[in-house]
Amino acid sequence: MSLSEFTLIDRFFSACGTPRADCALGVGDDAALLRVPADRELAVTQDTLVQGVHFFAGSAPQPLGHKALAVNLSDLAAMGAEPAWATLALTLPAAGPAWLAAFAAGFCTLARDSGVQLVGGDTTRGPLALSVTALGLVPHGQALRRSGARPGDLIYVSGTLGDAGLALLRLGQDREAELSDELRARLERPTPRLALGQALRGLASAAIDVSDGLAADLGHILECSGVGAELRLADLPLSPAITAHLAQGGDRLLPLSAGDDYELCFTLPPGHRADLEALVPRLACPITCIGRIGTRPGLRVLGPDGRTLPLARGGYDHFATAG
Ligand code: ADP
Ligand code: MG
Repeated sequence: MSLSEFTLIDRFFSACGTPRADCALGVGDDAALLRVPADRELAVTQDTLVQGVHFFAGSAPQPLGHKALAVNLSDLAAMGAEPAWATLALTLPAAGPAWLAAFAAGFCTLARDSGVQLVGGDTTRGPLALSVTALGLVPHGQALRRSGARPGDLIYVSGTLGDAGLALLRLGQDREAELSDELRARLERPTPRLALGQALRGLASAAIDVSDGLAADLGHILECSGVGAELRLADLPLSPAITAHLAQGGDRLLPLSAGDDYELCFTLPPGHRADLEALVPRLACPITCIGRIGTRPGLRVLGPDGRTLPLARGGYDHFATAG
């Protein structure tokens, strides 16, 4: 059975997430009407997941619903914004009710847990693609940008690095590979670091979420800030799964190059260290100092012996070509 466009929207997406008083009009008209308080700036971000590019054909719909929203909330987290609303552009090969119910459950549960109301979208037929726009609020002038890092600032990262990349590596070799629940969750159900991002307002000098790999994403901070950095490989926070993988001869640069972790990388003026440490007990995730910003351009990674490691220029680029 396939549903009509309007039955589908009505059934799965007309009451999705947290009903908010600042939404004057949600799903059902030609546009949503949203109230932005006078002392806030509106943070707007959009990310698309395309089958065959960002996820395997046949991926379970519930985690997909979660991830489509989570990757956008991660961008809001990196700006220090509080998420408020989202829109969803769904392109579907067919309107199967079971698939849609599971997808909507994943999406709407995360929306509800994050205080987000789904206020509109678009539904079309075509190859499976999920595009979400997330809108958040941030006090005037307090958003965390990529451009504020200064020489002497400390570099931190939340959580652990490389887990999603390891899960992807294993599934890439064998779609039926046995993954632990934890490792699978790191790839399929990333946790946007929303509380951390908001707590960093007024403390961090720059922030970014790690979607394309730490080296590439920190590279964006360095470029936008006109600075360089030194990282200590031995200080990167690793899960037991990654530690075991490296002990078995896995690529030790994986935690630097792997994408999809959706952790936050941020820089901190050293004078704010005590304030940051005071926050730690209230945060849901660990944070680790992994290096320092310097004046010499570029990213240097020091191995355990203190020598600089050779790094390929990294990160995922959809339009990169071989020459
Ligand atoms: P229009 O033709 O005016 O663009 P649509 O028929 O595309 O309107 O959508 C009808 C209503 O349903 C609009 O309010 C739109 O925002 C909402 N909508 C459409 N698709 C979705 C979706 N996947 N999720 C949430 N809301 C949706
Ligand atoms: Mg439309």
